[in-house]
Amino acid sequence: MSSPSSLSTLAAALAEAASGEQVQSALDAAFPDGLSLPDAPAGQREALEVAAALVGAALARIEAQQEAREVRLQLEPLRENAARLQERFDALFNAAPVGIAAGRRNGTLVRANDAYLHLLGFTREEFQAGAVNWVDLTPPEFAEVDRDALRRAIGDGQAVRYEKEMRHRSGERIAQEVTLLPHWEGSEAVGVAYVRDLRPERAAALGHALELRVRGEELERLNAELTARSEALERFAELSRDLALERDPLVLVGRAQEIAVSLMPGSVCTYYEPQGRLWSLLSHRGEFRRPELLARLRLGLPRGESLNVDRPFETLAPYYQDAFDPATVQGAGSSISVIRTSASFPVRTGVQPRGVLVVGRHDQRAWTPAEKTLLETVVFNLQLALERAEQSGELQRRTLALERSNAELERFAFVASHDLQEPLRSVTSFAQLLVKRFGAHQDDPRAEQYLKHIQGGTQRMQELIQELLNYARVTAETRPATRQDTNAVTAAAVQDLRASLNAAGAAVTVFDLPPVVADSTQLRQLMQNLIGNAVKYRHADRAPVVTVTGEQRGPWVQIDVHDNGLGIAPEYHERIFTVFQRLHARDQYGGTGVGLTIARRIVERHGGQLWVSSDGVSGSTFHLTLPAAPG
Ligand code: ADP
Repeated sequence: MSSPSSLSTLAAALAEAASGEQVQSALDAAFPDGLSLPDAPAGQREALEVAAALVGAALARIEAQQEAREVRLQLEPLRENAARLQERFDALFNAAPVGIAAGRRNGTLVRANDAYLHLLGFTREEFQAGAVNWVDLTPPEFAEVDRDALRRAIGDGQAVRYEKEMRHRSGERIAQEVTLLPHWEGSEAVGVAYVRDLRPERAAALGHALELRVRGEELERLNAELTARSEALERFAELSRDLALERDPLVLVGRAQEIAVSLMPGSVCTYYEPQGRLWSLLSHRGEFRRPELLARLRLGLPRGESLNVDRPFETLAPYYQDAFDPATVQGAGSSISVIRTSASFPVRTGVQPRGVLVVGRHDQRAWTPAEKTLLETVVFNLQLALERAEQSGELQRRTLALERSNAELERFAFVASHDLQEPLRSVTSFAQLLVKRFGAHQDDPRAEQYLKHIQGGTQRMQELIQELLNYARVTAETRPATRQDTNAVTAAAVQDLRASLNAAGAAVTVFDLPPVVADSTQLRQLMQNLIGNAVKYRHADRAPVVTVTGEQRGPWVQIDVHDNGLGIAPEYHERIFTVFQRLHARDQYGGTGVGLTIARRIVERHGGQLWVSSDGVSGSTFHLTLPAAPG
């Protein structure tokens, strides 16, 4: 090829060529006979030079294009990454729970996240259209704090935290906490604000304050209730003080009513008990503003038609009427309408209701919890007082009855033994007379034997009666207790027993005994009984040894009478103190079984105690206590 037209074809093909191979085939098409420069004619050489320049340019372009493609290929993933990052940033930026916005001093916003726009009530489209200007949305009184914060953030490069308000699109003021940071957008300094909505926090604080107030009110109410309760209790303490003297239930009810009326000024208090088909008014306190009302109530209210009284009696629960309905006390007539609020309470002793206490007020006020507590406490304490009065009345009745029957018994024993002595004495003397006069003349020896039996019987009877008399005398004939030299009295008792002690070969040792307060005769009899028994119930195998010791223990003197006799089995430790109770047959040991009964009675009369300890074989110890004589 050598013509310029083929050169232009080559140029066009080279411009299209995208690779070395395509350059080669374009060259091959333009020079089908091959290329040979040295012997080529001048025109062809020139064409060849042009073609070479064209090929060089095409190859340079292809190379540059290939390089550019490679760079593009390398850049592609980076670009994708950057897009992803931007997307993620945007998502995070918008999803942040705090509002974030970058703004200029003049109020225009460079960017704003969804939370920020939402906080102020704008859409993203409106933001993009430039409708959101933070300066315009700030009430003028906060302009200065904003300016100051921007100055410090951008000027000093520090984070500034402060509180301000902005106006929502709707006009509502939004309290917010702003943290402002400086940021560079290119060469321009802007402020980035992190904005936290303070409204939920403030509402919670308000709620908390409200709750605190409610709690405070609750506490106050409890406190009022407590005060009421202790006030009622105090008044009742006064009532209880009278209890020892006062047993009349109606007096107690009256006192409770006085307390109720004094605690609820301007009230009247009535007390009813069921009597047949009526509620009888048994007690009332307070001023009735209508005397005719009291007159009506005094006539009694029909049971079953007076809800205000019926109801608490049936349900055993208080019945409060904040707005008193006169129909609930129909029988009282129209004058009852002066009562505006009422409270009725069942009054029980034990499980049984006995009556109803009604408090009526002349003014219209709902019962407060404290007032209810107060009245319920009054009624509760009235019930306690009534129960105690009932019990103490019963106790006193029983004690009196017991004392009376005791005294009667003693009188009877005294009189009986006295009066019995007389006929017994005559039987004895006639029996003696019979023995003396006719004993020897009897043909039948049994006659004398029978007469002896009569004598023995009457003698025993006399002994028993004498003992009974002694027993009755312990309380019937008393002398005042005085200071006694216990040693001297015991020595006298030992002296009384001298004959039997000698006969038994007994050794009685009395250690120093503290003085006591007692009736001297009775003390002597007491010691005589105990020491006498200690010798009487001696052991067959050993000579009786008796020791008497004494010791002061506080206000008491304890005296122990110890022997080495038969001993007493534990099961009899109580029984031996019962009248006529003996552990031994009469033919073995004489006696009536009254001695220890008298001994215990003497000790108890002095306020002391008498008891025995013994293992049942090696002797016994009788212990007694008597009041110690003051030193
Ligand atoms: P008695 O008139 O029979 O002595 P007591 O009342 O004095 O009546 O005694 C009651 C019973 O207690 C006696 O029958 C006796 O069995 C027993 N008893 C009393 N003192 C002693 C004692 N020191 N040792 C053993 N038994 C005693």
